[in-house]
Amino acid sequence: MAAGFRIAAVAALLLLAAACAPRQRQAAPLPAPTQPPASSQWIGRDIIQAACLNDLVATGAKFELIAQAEPGKDGCTLQNGVRLISTSVDLVRPAEMTCPLALRLMQFEKDVLLPEAQRVFGQPLKQINHAGAFTCKRMTGNGSRISEHGHGRAIDIWGFVLADGRRISVADHFRARGPEGQYLRGVSREACRFFAVVLSPNADAAHAKSFHWDISEWKRCGS
Ligand SMILES: [Zn+2]
Repeated sequence: MAAGFRIAAVAALLLLAAACAPRQRQAAPLPAPTQPPASSQWIGRDIIQAACLNDLVATGAKFELIAQAEPGKDGCTLQNGVRLISTSVDLVRPAEMTCPLALRLMQFEKDVLLPEAQRVFGQPLKQINHAGAFTCKRMTGNGSRISEHGHGRAIDIWGFVLADGRRISVADHFRARGPEGQYLRGVSREACRFFAVVLSPNADAAHAKSFHWDISEWKRCGS
C-alpha cells in the first residue's frame, strides 16, 4: 500500500478528530470503512495512530506528520512518526519521534517541567534544548542493539531556557547547589514516573551532559 495513501488516510482521520477536539476530550469516533480494507493490519495501526494524533492535537503541540520510510539498512525505523515543532514552549529545533513519545513528553511538560519551573524559579519555562530524538544509533554499552532512538522512542535533553533568558544545562548545573541543580535533579527524578528508561549524569558517564528519556519496554530509573 502506497505510503502517500496511508498518510492521506491518517491526515483525513486527524482532520476529523481535530474538528471534534474542542467539544470533547475523548477520541472522536472514527468513520467505519466503506469497503473491506486491503490489509486489516495497517488499518488497525493507523487507527491507533489517529487516536494518538487526536490526543496530541488536543495538547496544543505543533507538529507535522512524517511519511513512514522503509527500514534503513541498520534496521532503524520511525513508525507513527511526527516532527514536533513546538510543545507549549519552544523547542531549540524540531524533533522527529513517534506520536506516543511526543504525547508522553507533552504530559510530562504539563505535569512537571512547567510547574517545577514556576515553583523553583518563579517564572515560566520558555524553551527545551534537546539533542535529538529519532536518530539511527546503537545502544550505549551494548553496541549490538539499536538504541530506542533508532525507532524514535527516545529523546535526549541537555537543557532549558527560562522566560528571562536564564539558561540551565545538565552539563553545568546537574550537580550544582543552586536552583538550577534543584530543578534538574527534581525533574529527572519525576521523569521516572512518565518514561520507561531515564538516564542522567547519575546513571553513567555517557549521560554526563544530557538526560535520556524513552518509552521502551525496559524499565530503568537512572535519575
Ligand atoms: Zn538517548
